[in-house]
Amino acid sequence: MNDFGFDRIVIVGLGLIGGSFAAALKNAGKVNTVIGVSRSTSTLDKGLELGIIDQAETDLAVAVQGADLVMLAAPIGATEPLLRKMQPGLDGNTIVTDAGSVKGNVVAAAKAVFGDVPSWLVPGHPIAGSEKSGVTATDSQLYQNHKVILTPIAETSKNAVDVVKRAWQWCGAEVITMGVSHHDSVLAATSHLPHLLAFSLVDTLAKEDENQEIFRYAAGGFRDFTRIASSDPTMWHDIFVANRDALLTRIEHFERGLTGFKAAVAAGDSNAMLGYMTRAKVARDHFTKMLAKKAYSSAMTEKQITFVAKPGGSVSGTIRVPGDKSISHRSIMLGSLAEGVTEVDGFLEGEDALATLQAFRDMGVTIEGPNNGHVKVFGVGMNGLQRPPGPLYVGNSGTSMRLLAGLLAAQNFDT
Ligand code: NAD
Repeated sequence: MNDFGFDRIVIVGLGLIGGSFAAALKNAGKVNTVIGVSRSTSTLDKGLELGIIDQAETDLAVAVQGADLVMLAAPIGATEPLLRKMQPGLDGNTIVTDAGSVKGNVVAAAKAVFGDVPSWLVPGHPIAGSEKSGVTATDSQLYQNHKVILTPIAETSKNAVDVVKRAWQWCGAEVITMGVSHHDSVLAATSHLPHLLAFSLVDTLAKEDENQEIFRYAAGGFRDFTRIASSDPTMWHDIFVANRDALLTRIEHFERGLTGFKAAVAAGDSNAMLGYMTRAKVARDHFTKMLAKKAYSSAMTEKQITFVAKPGGSVSGTIRVPGDKSISHRSIMLGSLAEGVTEVDGFLEGEDALATLQAFRDMGVTIEGPNNGHVKVFGVGMNGLQRPPGPLYVGNSGTSMRLLAGLLAAQNFDT
């Protein structure tokens, strides 16, 4: 490979992920020859017909000889046998990467085949995809503006990481790196658990006698929540097997949350129910903003604008002055520590005051709103705050930081 691209790359497992990687590199003009390897000749024929690959090969050891880069994109259960098959064709100059959704198993498979993890192996995972599969689902734009996580280990060569990183950047992706087990733990929560829940919910409902009736009247919520239950069962089977421990931890965590929510519904505990839902809604809204690269993550840009103010006519009407920031912070803090319900009007819905509001939600306070400056805080009393589930995130809010530091110092939990 040079700055202009690759001479030869090999795609093993010519489906949505592998095919889209090849198509994106071709689209960017960054590869001369793409060799496809797959179990079925019909897949390879289709790949040739669609122009995704230039050459088809069934012998993996032959395919990888002299290649710049090999992308493993078959179901992750096949990683070890595939590495074993390509071993005779590898001479140490070819870089091998993968796209599997679990990383611990790739490292384990490499150790099993090569004795150690070779320096030219760069485990990776594109955070992009869909419930569609197969070579016909190939999309050259799939990785545009998506993240790709690389999980190199201490032995991985820096050059190999740089090459794989550049390849993904040519596909339009943003590349980040993290540790193998951290990756598997985070993905167990954000991807593997939701898929398991979607499969489980649809299966549970499908087994019920009146399933026709249920699916006939299924509305948008059901469709949104269960779209991913159409994903490929083999692929997800392999993921659940490979990431068993991290997934079990997340399932148990979820079960505790579900049990609590169920108890709140059973007891008609509106306060607790609203607590679950307001916390979830705020977290989801925040996540949406992060994805849109708004709020905390957007980059500062500089622009010079010249305004010329000229006297105009007259204005009349009623205006509402935004609420005071200092008081908005304190209204949440005092309302949370008070006994009983505090209602606030004119709350300033800025990021800083919202960070304080979220911090108290994280500490178990139910807070409704803000809706047009109206907030309802269900106080928990002087000793009623609970240990937050993780670090409190206050963004750029110095006031939250200062006031909370004192307030939290007096609690009987660490923050
Ligand atoms: P896919 O089913 O579209 O493609 C997989 C391809 O691998 C198919 O062409 C299949 O014929 C081939 N294959 C299966 N077993 C093989 C074997 N033993 N040897 C060679 N080829 C084999 O699946 P996909 O969605 O492209 O997923 C591929 C990989 O990417 C999986 O490891 C998955 O975990 C990972 N991944 C998938 C997504 C997603 O959303 N689909 C996202 C990120 C990562």
